[in-house]
Amino acid sequence: MSNITVVVVVGAGVSGLTSALLLSKSKANTITVVAKHVPGDYDIEYASPWAGANVQPMATREHSRWERRTWPELKRITEEIPEAGIHFQKSHIVRRDKDISEPGKHSPLDPLFDTNPWYKDVLGGYRDLRADELTPGHQAGWEVDSLCINTAVYLPWLLGQCLKAGVVIRRGVLSHIREAKGMSHTGKPADIVVNATGLGSLRLGGVEDKTMAPARGQIVLVRNECTPMLSSSGTEDGPTEVLYIMQRAAGGGTVLGGTYDIGNWESAPDPNIALRIMKRVVDARPDITGGKGVEGLSVVRHAVGLRPYREGGVRIEEERLDDGTWIVHNYGHGGWGYQGSYGCAEAVVELVEKLRRRTDSKI
Ligand code: FAD
Repeated sequence: MSNITVVVVVGAGVSGLTSALLLSKSKANTITVVAKHVPGDYDIEYASPWAGANVQPMATREHSRWERRTWPELKRITEEIPEAGIHFQKSHIVRRDKDISEPGKHSPLDPLFDTNPWYKDVLGGYRDLRADELTPGHQAGWEVDSLCINTAVYLPWLLGQCLKAGVVIRRGVLSHIREAKGMSHTGKPADIVVNATGLGSLRLGGVEDKTMAPARGQIVLVRNECTPMLSSSGTEDGPTEVLYIMQRAAGGGTVLGGTYDIGNWESAPDPNIALRIMKRVVDARPDITGGKGVEGLSVVRHAVGLRPYREGGVRIEEERLDDGTWIVHNYGHGGWGYQGSYGCAEAVVELVEKLRRRTDSKI
């Protein structure tokens, strides 16, 4: 490898852009981001714009590194950079005992509802909710400090930070990951390709990770305001339907959720599900419409996004293709791509530096 490492990042969701931004901190890298979708696009193949997005840790204690490492940076951005579109919000996490999986039957959302959660010492502001603060039908609950990202503001801001750091953004649709090698704006072949294609990794040649699946999330975005944020462990409407509320920063509206439906590819919002989402929210927080019920909600849009779920958890590792190309994977973040974005991107940087050292020592 020469003194400059030519990096091509495939994917311009929160994972690809955050990886590109952290890689750009080193003058040893020259970075091109290539993607089918970029900030500004709304498409079912592009998860990032559809997210809430807030911080509600979902990893087990053992796998908490990504979220632990991300929180301080998101907190710093919230405090120092208003134009990034993030604000602090208290979060109420409420639990029905019957929703917690039996041992060995782990659900992706369980760690959030653990009664002694690892994140209580990370986020701060932890306190048990009083009985009169609990959402009806729930046996336990607690409040923690959190934040909510207006993704319509944050993604363009993140893209802008990349541009300011000299990253070049290009459109491109790859059928095989090795094509990325020839896509650097420098005209030189890439030394390292970062794969941040999210759910695209299921079909992208050379990756074709069959453990990837969509975790369909249907939401309703409304103009009504509602704070603090709320997350419940379950609903009476079946295992794929969930209840959460998050008010976005900077007039971004309030996201009412939702669903977490693994294996469901349907891109159109289902009106019956939408009605159930709105009813659950209004039952849990009648104040959202000043007591006017579902009729009092002012809907901006009904929407569906597909979270890039991976059966064994996120994939962050290096791989060498048959033609010698080094790939660093960063995909499979399910429902926590924002709240783990800086921790995961930091691991990408570590892998890129490791590969650079390995290659240099062979010269
Ligand atoms: P994506 O955003 O899907 O980006 C993939 C990129 O790869 C795109 O640019 C795409 O065009 C590109 N690509 C794919 N295949 C190819 C190809 N063959 N050639 C070229 N380019 C390709 N996360 C949180 O942290 N907090 C939340 O509160 C939260 N709420 C959510 C609510 C909903 C309803 C949904 C749907 C998601 C939510 N998430 C949340 C999850 C979060 O949105 C995802 O984890 C995150 O956006 C994944 O980002 P990504 O960059 O890995 O993937």
